[in-house]
Amino acid sequence: LINVSKVFKDFKGNEVRAVDNVSFDVQPGEFVTLLGPSGCGKTTTLRMIAGFEKPTDGMILINNVNVVEIPPWKRDTAMVFQSYGLFPHMNVAENIAYGLKMRKVPPSDIEKKVKNILKVVGLEGYGDRPPSSLSGGQQQRVALARALVVEPSVLLFDEPLSNLDVLLREQMRIEIKRIQKEVGITAIYVTHDRTEALTLSDKIVLMKGGKIEQIGSPEEIYEKPVSKFAAEFMGKIN
Ligand code: ATP
Repeated sequence: LINVSKVFKDFKGNEVRAVDNVSFDVQPGEFVTLLGPSGCGKTTTLRMIAGFEKPTDGMILINNVNVVEIPPWKRDTAMVFQSYGLFPHMNVAENIAYGLKMRKVPPSDIEKKVKNILKVVGLEGYGDRPPSSLSGGQQQRVALARALVVEPSVLLFDEPLSNLDVLLREQMRIEIKRIQKEVGITAIYVTHDRTEALTLSDKIVLMKGGKIEQIGSPEEIYEKPVSKFAAEFMGKIN
């Protein structure tokens, strides 16, 4: 479904290469996590897939089409941000409906879709509430609903749980996995949290200094780290 092929990213005025020859594939329905320490290039990689950054070199194929020149809203992807990114002056239902309106979906369909997706994320009856009246976890669910409702081929998550407390983070992790399975969507998830990566992913892309260190299933990466860095990062040795 997605092929990231020999992608590089240099930012102006930045000596180190943010992303350095990164290649990996994502299959339909797969949950792939980009994992690594702060500054390793995982967010930049995700933003290039979303279309918010343009690679210096390389190709990003979505359904066999090279999308590097295609703007974000035409890519069939939707992103869930760390800071939720909800519109404060709109209620929950209006927030979720926003992308559908932009896509000129008829109002009666919008109402149906919003109602349905609120059920999926466990927020039935919350449509009229302003986002500010919701907890962090609930706001993140609204953000997730807003991404899901446009039925993208690929859902992109940028550290979506890092603003939540530990307990809520664990609950939302389970919830995200349940919803991803239920909707059957492909997901690319960025985190520096190895527990999140190990519990959520079908495949982990471990990054270090802009490069890929190792790609494998959670079991492979945990049991057979290819380097001291991978072993340490996965908590195999301390
Ligand atoms: P974090 O978990 O801290 O967000 P990350 O692994 O997601 O880290 P990136 O945000 O992708 O890392 O950053 C990779 C490198 O690119 C870093 O050295 C960062 O300083 C640099 N970088 C990222 N965005 C920009 C930008 N807009 N302009 C200049 N340099 C940038």
